[in-house]
Amino acid sequence: MKQLRNRLLLAFLLAALGPLVVSLWVTSALLERSLSLNSTREMDSLSKALRATGRELYQQACENLRSAVETGRLRPERFALSARTTWPPEVAAFHESGRNEGFALAGPKGDRLEMLVRRDTEVLRYTRQMKSSQLPRLAEMYTSAWDRVEESRTRDLRSGFLYPLLLIGAAGGVLTIVVLVFFAHRISKPVHQLTQALERLAAGDLSVRVAPRRKDEIGAALEAFNRMAEQLEQSRERLILLTRLSSWQALGRKMAHEVKNSLTPIRLTVEEMAARQPAGVDRQFFEQAAAIIVDEVNRLEKRVRAFSDLAAEPPVHFTDFDINEVMEERIAFLRSAHPEVLYNLRLAPRAPLVRADEDLVRGVLTNLLENAAEAAGAGGVVLGITAIHDGALRIEVHDSGPGLSLHARETLFEPTISFKKTGMGLGLSIARKSALLSGGDIECIPGELGGAAFRLTLRPAATSSVHLSETETEWAQSES
Ligand code: ADP
Repeated sequence: MKQLRNRLLLAFLLAALGPLVVSLWVTSALLERSLSLNSTREMDSLSKALRATGRELYQQACENLRSAVETGRLRPERFALSARTTWPPEVAAFHESGRNEGFALAGPKGDRLEMLVRRDTEVLRYTRQMKSSQLPRLAEMYTSAWDRVEESRTRDLRSGFLYPLLLIGAAGGVLTIVVLVFFAHRISKPVHQLTQALERLAAGDLSVRVAPRRKDEIGAALEAFNRMAEQLEQSRERLILLTRLSSWQALGRKMAHEVKNSLTPIRLTVEEMAARQPAGVDRQFFEQAAAIIVDEVNRLEKRVRAFSDLAAEPPVHFTDFDINEVMEERIAFLRSAHPEVLYNLRLAPRAPLVRADEDLVRGVLTNLLENAAEAAGAGGVVLGITAIHDGALRIEVHDSGPGLSLHARETLFEPTISFKKTGMGLGLSIARKSALLSGGDIECIPGELGGAAFRLTLRPAATSSVHLSETETEWAQSES
């Protein structure tokens, strides 16, 4: 399963990172080309030329000023050492520099040239207004050209652009991989789960289920698996029951045959013996003894008939019929046999017809209702319900009797031999066999009236079965 995840990851990576790598390559190639066209070098030489021209102009202006001073054409401003505290800062700075002569541009626009001369007792300042404003403008142009050159030098465009681009690309790649790993895991995990569950199912563990936890197609596949496992488990349980019943049937058939053969002669002989006794006290005793024996023989015959029923293999005839009608008819029948019990009905309106063997279903309902009426007793209540659930028909019988013990619940549908006055202990196993042969099933459910409750599930007419199919029914009949 790791292989599937790895393949998904590889496919996703190629699909997502391929275009990213191509776009990074194209962008860096374009950047290289545009950088090769840049004008930094030209700007550099231009700024140097401007600087040289500016310097020449400045030196010339300084020479002119010096000759004007030497020829005495200019009068200086005098700054006496004694009044040093009142000097402007540039004069004080010049005096402190220790030089004898210095030039500087001054004025708000830098269009005045000053010459400072140091004497022992004073500093002289000669000022001349520059005729043209070319020098300051040149200085300005030079400064801005130089700034531009410096700026483009300090900023390495290649790394300044490429590194963020690579960083964004790498971040995008990492994010893509995280998302891809998440999705690959999300896809491969349930497939892995399903494969493991299928392996366990194939090994015979029909109780295996997977947790769907999602609403998409994969969730639907997991749910379908669970349904299939559920149906397989139920079918296996039913087939096990039918197989066990079939061995009981074989035993029952043989016993019924053997016992019935002996019972008839016993009864006839005892009756004959009683009839041949001469009149008197002994005859009366004989008649009473014969009556007891005949009574017991009759009960034994009844039991034998029950085993014959269990062993019987009546052909199953599937027909479509109204289950509400059968329920009403069975309750009416029971009302006369147990008038001391109250009967309630809660029937599904517009219930679809069921597809089953009507006689078998009638027998099942008779058994369930009889048991319920007996358990409910005088003044007790029996409730008959029909309902539709998940496309199947549910027929329920609830009673207000004492309910079933845990042990009774576990062995309820197992054939047992009971020698109590009423019942043989075979009714529910015969009923379940009939339900299975009719394509349905019987189960014990929590009762609404405080007592026991049983549910018979049957499939409706003209739908595919979720229970024992007709093919399974044929198989079950051929097994038994
Ligand atoms: P029987 O022929 O003895 O009635 P069943 O198979 O029909 O055999 O029932 C088996 C046993 O299950 C009964 O003897 C009874 O103890 C118990 N049982 C069945 N139905 C009910 C019920 N509605 N309430 C309480 N016990 C029940």
